[in-house]
Amino acid sequence: MKNLLGGKGANLAQMAKLGLPVPPGFTITTEVCAYFYQNNHRYPPDLKKEVKEAVAQIEEVKGAQFGNPENPLLFSVRSGARASMPGMMNTVLNLGLNDEITRKIAEKNPCFAWNSYWRFIFMFADVVMAAPEEELNEVLAGIKKERGLKLDLELSAEDWQETAERLKTKVKHLTGREIPQDPWEQLWEAIGAVFKSWNTPRAITYRKLNKIPDDWGTAVNVQSMVFGNFNQNSASGVGFTRNPASGEKKLYGEFLAQAQGEDVVAGIRTPQPIEKLKEIFPQRYQELLKISEILEQDYRDMQDIEFTIESGKLWMLQTRTGKRTAQAAVKIALDMVRGELITKVEALLRIPPESIESFFRPSFDHNSKKEILVKGLPASPGAAVGEVIFDPAEAGELVDKGHKVILVRTETSPDDIHGIAAAEGILTSRGGMTSHAALVSRGMGKPCIVGAEEMYVDYKNQQFSAQGKTIKKRETISLDGTRGEVYSGKLETIPAQVPQDLHEILNWADKERRLGVYANADTPKQAKQAREFGAEGIGLCRTEHMFFEESRIPAFRQMILARDAKERKEALEKIEPLQRDDFLEIFRVMEGLPVIIRLLDPPLHEFLPQKENDIEKFAQQAGLPKEIVAQKVEQLKELNPMLGHRGCRLGITYPEIYEMQVRAIITAACQIKKEGKNVKPEIMIPLTLGEKEFLILKTTTKKTIKEILEREKINLDYKIGTMIELPRAALQADEIAREAEFFSFGTNDLTQTALGISRDDAGRFLPQYLEQKIFQEDPFRTLDIEGVGELIKIGVERGRKTKKDLEVGICGEHGGDPQSIEFCHQVGLDYVSCSPFRVPVARLAAAQAALKQNEFNEAIRDS
Ligand code: PEP
Ligand code: MG
Repeated sequence: MKNLLGGKGANLAQMAKLGLPVPPGFTITTEVCAYFYQNNHRYPPDLKKEVKEAVAQIEEVKGAQFGNPENPLLFSVRSGARASMPGMMNTVLNLGLNDEITRKIAEKNPCFAWNSYWRFIFMFADVVMAAPEEELNEVLAGIKKERGLKLDLELSAEDWQETAERLKTKVKHLTGREIPQDPWEQLWEAIGAVFKSWNTPRAITYRKLNKIPDDWGTAVNVQSMVFGNFNQNSASGVGFTRNPASGEKKLYGEFLAQAQGEDVVAGIRTPQPIEKLKEIFPQRYQELLKISEILEQDYRDMQDIEFTIESGKLWMLQTRTGKRTAQAAVKIALDMVRGELITKVEALLRIPPESIESFFRPSFDHNSKKEILVKGLPASPGAAVGEVIFDPAEAGELVDKGHKVILVRTETSPDDIHGIAAAEGILTSRGGMTSHAALVSRGMGKPCIVGAEEMYVDYKNQQFSAQGKTIKKRETISLDGTRGEVYSGKLETIPAQVPQDLHEILNWADKERRLGVYANADTPKQAKQAREFGAEGIGLCRTEHMFFEESRIPAFRQMILARDAKERKEALEKIEPLQRDDFLEIFRVMEGLPVIIRLLDPPLHEFLPQKENDIEKFAQQAGLPKEIVAQKVEQLKELNPMLGHRGCRLGITYPEIYEMQVRAIITAACQIKKEGKNVKPEIMIPLTLGEKEFLILKTTTKKTIKEILEREKINLDYKIGTMIELPRAALQADEIAREAEFFSFGTNDLTQTALGISRDDAGRFLPQYLEQKIFQEDPFRTLDIEGVGELIKIGVERGRKTKKDLEVGICGEHGGDPQSIEFCHQVGLDYVSCSPFRVPVARLAAAQAALKQNEFNEAIRDS
């Protein structure tokens, strides 16, 4: 019932149903939240009555009364959305306390009473009355300073009373209002504040990052309090039924003695590992193990739990599916299949495709010389190198300018989410493995180290120090999230190691998917990598990328700047052997698999010398007058290079360029064939706008091929096809398909031409477009299904109307994006082609797309 009760509410109800010890409570549904927003922040008419009845029921079970000083019932009021949003929304604990009730409790347990009251005032002021948190924090900090105390536990009952009193006064001063003394007033206000917390900027950012719809709303969980801070026989803890970093099947977590749950996750004190619980509360530890088992059997997944021990009794406060690293996701899924808890299909559907890219990422070379600056807890694995930045907003700005940064904080809070999202890695001096920084980084798949306690973070001077060394803002450090070690300077990285478990999962995926997975690879090295990752062909070899190298660019420039066909031919003669050798190597690597080579498609200006010196140098090299070169550069300058004299426009105007390329491709293929190997070249014309244009180029291409094959006396299978990158080409697909043997959607260009947005400068306004929800996603990353997707559908449909079995793929960036891959599956493409590192992601995403469609089809059949 997650949609109605929110994740937390549904799981609490389920735990109660399983007979686990859950403090009695009730949940106000997400429908009430929707009503609240639709009706100008008013509650539905029956709500008060229903809440009163629910409270009365709890009073009966607990034998205590809300607002009764003699025997008070206290509540926690917490948010709980459908999808988990850790730390994103608001909570008020110890609700129901007021001066009178606190004084009464203090007669028996003064330290607990005043500490709890201080907490309530703090949270109520923060969450409900919107008092600034830093100001509220100052009160406790001030008392500690006056008394010369460091830890909260050192404060006496009198100290806490003083803290609570001073805080109350400060709240009045800050907000102009008293903390309400009437528990019911407290309750109504807290419920409203939780609803309102759905729309705080940090909650909105989290939703955006995690693709959670804005209209889901949150439920409110009102639950009787249990106190981990009640006495020495009490504690609060959080844990996972398996290790969320490695996936190991072992209860994992941490706890704090004599503390409330918020203290554990807030990273204010560094908690103890859960094994210690075995020594302090051995029976509760055993009970927790049993409960973990029950929960895993019931939920059939790893759980993230919160618990409290009050006076020696264990209470379960939360369970939810645990967030995990990619490594843990793979191991847990596989272990659960082996343990017959889930099926292979479920395992495949459980692993987020994007997450597995990290396996293929490099890590640090630990044999290289390095200096450990500081150690902390390895909260999220991987290697990150970047400039030290302390301010999350500044991190975002620098990353926008192309820098790589490591965000360094004492601890993080949900307000820092922008900075975390921008950073390569996160380092905090405080907090445990379940602190905010740890949870969020793991979710985002970023390296993270927390609890590096020997490090002193000095925000004021924008530096941190550890072991007598000071690192200033903008200095480079390297962060190893797998080992929990921070090194000064930039460390070299080594290629990733892929666990056998992942290969097994990817093999299952290969059996389920219908889509082929090809790679975009321009060099033999990339092709080799792609093949190792499981690519079944090359979907796009961008021939212009072969000329980015320093040693090759002069010949290429000479070709572009040639004054006539003769000069161009001379330049091409220099280039041809280079191209041929590249193709030879690529064909060898990809033996037996299709290789789609795209003829030249460069924005010409990218290859031209721009600075005066360069022009002069090049003119000398080429033996041309400087003025001529400068003039030609000027002529070729384009205002919007993405729409100019590129793609097959080049082939039409300078046919000798494409002829040279075709010669290089086919000669190389013939040689491979002579070596007794299988070769499958496919020649792809870029940026075609219609049948006529394609036919001209196809005719010359075929003529060139025929000449070579006759000369070499060889029979060769080859194909000539086109990219579909323009709306006109999609609309004309039936005509183009008469001549083309295959289509490949170039969705990078199709997106810019369909939307009228240049790939080069979209970054200037895209953020606002995303913010104002004109786009849900960056259309250059995730396919714009309504617009570009529609053109693809038309292209496929019309193309196949002419040629029933026309091979159709995609080779824009979207070919590696799981959401776009699902669309490609649905519209019947034959393959997706993406960068080598994304090939495993695409294999899994393609399997998920097929499995989801099967599920959907079955559901339709059943209904
Ligand atoms: C495309 O436009 O989608 C494509 C793959 O070609 P390029 O990115 O090289 O323009
Ligand atoms: Mg293109």
